[in-house]
Amino acid sequence: MAHPIAPATAPAIAPISLKAIAPWAVFFGILLMALIYFVGAEQGATALISGENVHEWVHDGRHLLGFPCH
Ligand SMILES: [Zn+2]
Repeated sequence: MAHPIAPATAPAIAPISLKAIAPWAVFFGILLMALIYFVGAEQGATALISGENVHEWVHDGRHLLGFPCH
């Protein structure tokens, strides 16, 4: 025999205003764009950091995301 399921009472969730989220959205957006740059374009003539270290470090992600590489 199935046991009756007690009605769940959802906890009250306080809404977060757009004003509170906006600075974090901008911050993580900039962080994400920097990461996308280093994964996708940090190579050769466009490289900001000399050497192959950054490119080698993100190389698998580059192939995973389908950026042209070699
Ligand atoms: Zn490659």
